[in-house]
Amino acid sequence: MVTAAPGEERSPALALVNTRRLNAGGEVDDLAEPHAAARWLHLSPASLAADDLSRITDLRAAVRELLAALTEDRAPDAAALETVNAAARADAAAPQLTWPSGPHREWRSTQPGSLSEALAALARDAIEVVTSDLGHLVRPCEAHGCARFFVREHARRRWCSTTCGDRVRAARHQRLVVEQRESAQGRS
Ligand SMILES: [Zn+2]
Repeated sequence: MVTAAPGEERSPALALVNTRRLNAGGEVDDLAEPHAAARWLHLSPASLAADDLSRITDLRAAVRELLAALTEDRAPDAAALETVNAAARADAAAPQLTWPSGPHREWRSTQPGSLSEALAALARDAIEVVTSDLGHLVRPCEAHGCARFFVREHARRRWCSTTCGDRVRAARHQRLVVEQRESAQGRS
C-alpha cells in the first residue's frame, strides 16, 4: 500500500498523475487493467473496456506534462493542452432545477456514470490546479527513482513521502561511509 502524496486529497488530477510511479522493481501502474482503472475512477467495472484505458492514460500523460511545465516554468506541449481541453469539454454539465422544499439548482453531468464524465471531472480539476494558487506549490519529488508530484505545504519539503525522504537520507549516509572508508585507505 502506497501512501498518498501531499495534495492528492485536494486534487484528483494530481492523484491521477501519481497512479504511474516507480519503485525498486521498476514502473508501477495502478490503472494498467480495466477493473483497477474502473475502481479508481469510481465507475462500474462493466463501463470500461480495454480500449478505454488509453483515454485515461493519455489524459494522465497530458496532465503530467502540464504539471511538469508548471514546475519547470515553461509552456506545455500543445498536444497535452488539447488532450486536457478535449477531455474537459467531452461532458457538459448543465444546471438542473429540483424543488425539494423550494427551488434548488444543481450542476449535473449530461452523461452521469460515464467514463467521459469521470475524465471531464479530472480534466477540469487539472485546469483548476494549474490556474490557481495551488499550482504554484506543485513540485516533482526530488528523490532519485521517484516520479510522483506533490503539493509542497511546507517550504522545505522536497519529497513526496517519508519513504522517499528516508531513502535519500540512507543513500547520503551510505555515500558518507564510502567516502570515509576511501579517505582512511588513502591515509594508510
Ligand atoms: Zn517520492
